[in-house]
Amino acid sequence: MTSSPASPEEKSSSPRKVVYARVDSYEDPVLLKEALEKVLAPQFASFGSLEGKKVLFKPNLLVWKNKDEIASVNPAFLLAAVKIFRERGALVTIRENPAVQTAHAVVKSMGIADELEKLGVLTAPFEEYAVPPQNEKMRFHNIEIAKEYCSFDAVLDIAKAKTHGMMTLTLCVKNLFGMIRGSERLGWHLAVGRDFPLFADMLLDLYLAVRPAFNLVDGIVCMEGNGPGSGTSAHRGFVAGSNDALALDSSLSVKLGVRDLLLVRRARERGLLEEYEEVGGELMEDVAPLKLPDPPGLLVEWGVFLPPFLKTFLREYVISRPVLDQKKCIGCGLCAKMCPPRSLKIVDGHPRFHLKTCIRCYCCQEHCPKSAITPKKSFLMKVGAGVEKVLEKFFGK
Ligand code: SF4
Ligand code: SF4
Repeated sequence: MTSSPASPEEKSSSPRKVVYARVDSYEDPVLLKEALEKVLAPQFASFGSLEGKKVLFKPNLLVWKNKDEIASVNPAFLLAAVKIFRERGALVTIRENPAVQTAHAVVKSMGIADELEKLGVLTAPFEEYAVPPQNEKMRFHNIEIAKEYCSFDAVLDIAKAKTHGMMTLTLCVKNLFGMIRGSERLGWHLAVGRDFPLFADMLLDLYLAVRPAFNLVDGIVCMEGNGPGSGTSAHRGFVAGSNDALALDSSLSVKLGVRDLLLVRRARERGLLEEYEEVGGELMEDVAPLKLPDPPGLLVEWGVFLPPFLKTFLREYVISRPVLDQKKCIGCGLCAKMCPPRSLKIVDGHPRFHLKTCIRCYCCQEHCPKSAITPKKSFLMKVGAGVEKVLEKFFGK
């Protein structure tokens, strides 16, 4: 006899567990599967039988250029997860809206499209959007989310561990942003991009709406520095999983060197972060912190409380601004298309920034295929960082 899956209410009241496992590379399918099985075990236990259940996979697929690509979940990781769910009788569909290619084109470039098809897995874009059922914990009441998830028994959120110019890290909760219609993602950046705590609040509302029953992070090779699109490869050799996306982000962000991730802080302040148990956390002790992007600074720290004129001042003169490396730029114009407030225009074949209206969301940097845009620290920020180092030397972190 099969047991029924937990209802959304039961799911959100199941004890939260964050589980870590170490695995050195994507090369050995047996070791990779073993590690994923280990981190998924408590999630399967809290969900119940997967036999005949429809599971929506939402992997972070930004782009796939070659085998060394690190902006997306690795294909071996994705395939291993699919096989594990298929072996348990789940009916798997992968949905994602990458910025430029289609989800199907990305899995084709990854070289796994045929195998997915043999496993009976459909790869498709999100196509229909609606405002999800509301609950009293939400702050926004007009976010349209891909409504396909409502017709599934469960969602598996698969994040790639990456740094992020605006939110410092992108893990499981941020990965849900891909469930918003592409054109509206720009609108949300525009609406709340001036106020990073509000952006974090919007992401938390997505989490409250979707509540993925399954969550995984690909941390075998992470992205550090200029993430989430143009950072550098950072081998860390771990996978992580949890039945709660927020618990996973909270636990993992600390292990990756971020003591006070804005998203987690906002979750705490809103009373959304529940107690969770860590399993295998000690395995992460030798995992080096990720090299973080320059923080957007005071705007992040005090964005909720500052008056608008001060936010404008900070944005213009204190926080990092996008700068172009003209030698790398091929003039494709994607940055201009992705800029929510239209603060950059292509002039003489290259982007020109209008920094007065730029909200420092770094969408241009995230989507540039040539890594030609990077956030650059302001003079005041460099001074602040120097002062911080001196203070750390005398008083510790
Ligand atoms: S900066 Fe990047 S995205 Fe913009 S035009 Fe140049 S290559 Fe294209
Ligand atoms: S120029 Fe870049 S950082 Fe500035 S608003 Fe446009 S996309 Fe965001």
